[in-house]
Amino acid sequence: MRACNAPRCVRYFVQSHGRQEWCKPSCGNRARAARHYQRHSATAAHDLSGSSQPL
Ligand SMILES: [Zn+2]
Repeated sequence: MRACNAPRCVRYFVQSHGRQEWCKPSCGNRARAARHYQRHSATAAHDLSGSSQPL
């Protein structure tokens, strides 16, 4: 049994693949997003509104 590595998740799971770190894929996504968000901290919101303009 391993504890899930996702930020808000307190579940345990049985490791079925060698490098599984989360109880389910959505936890993996959340953990990755949280890490990404921490790195970019405040600029993330700017990116969302400003980056994809077809000029
Ligand atoms: Zn989880």
